[in-house]
Amino acid sequence: MIDVTSPNFDQRINNAKPSMIILHYTGMGSALEALEVLCDPVNKVSAHYFIDEDGTVLDLIPDAKRAWHAGISFWKGETDINSHAIGVELVNKGHEFGYHDFGEAQMAALITLCRELIERHKILPANILGHSDVAPERKTDPGELFDWKRLAREGVGLWPDPIEEDFEAAADLVKNEYSTQHLLAEYGYNPLAAYIDVVTAFHRHFYPEKFTQDGLPSEVDETTAARLLALLRAAHQDET
Ligand SMILES: [Zn+2]
Repeated sequence: MIDVTSPNFDQRINNAKPSMIILHYTGMGSALEALEVLCDPVNKVSAHYFIDEDGTVLDLIPDAKRAWHAGISFWKGETDINSHAIGVELVNKGHEFGYHDFGEAQMAALITLCRELIERHKILPANILGHSDVAPERKTDPGELFDWKRLAREGVGLWPDPIEEDFEAAADLVKNEYSTQHLLAEYGYNPLAAYIDVVTAFHRHFYPEKFTQDGLPSEVDETTAARLLALLRAAHQDET
């Protein structure tokens, strides 16, 4: 790991301990350009860690400090996400400049880093999220090409594994937008954000097939509902 210092940080509110990891992509033309932005005091943006496509990890800001990556955001009633999160930037041109797969070297480095952070700060699997999860109306990173399923398989974050009962309950749930919205909020999504944006963010993270073969990313189907129910059960088990 290489130390490169960004001046863009302040103190976590009430000395909060990090309890979440928020993943981002840089969304810029090059890694160098992104790094310059994250280290320039004029921009007032930053992250704790920066992972290049070759797997190089830069440590920009100490975990104990509050980096500025989440912006206006919400998760489980918390709006000062920066005070409670570790921010990780993955180099990728993003939807605007040429979104592409996250390669093996970068993913392997990310998994190693996240495992260390989980161990160090006792972070719950359900609290490993994308920027789009905490800011669904504004953000799309790290996006539908990010392999959350693999991450979970390697011990980082949650991936839904619906059982028979979830699919049975899902059949009723898809007919009731109010209930689905309520359960998305129970999982952590902002209940005041536009429903269509929350559903799209949920799909980006937990049902990326929606962006390829299965039609509209903003449309709830039985798999959406079954996966949501499975996640709620898994998150609840981790909390108790
Ligand atoms: Zn972001």
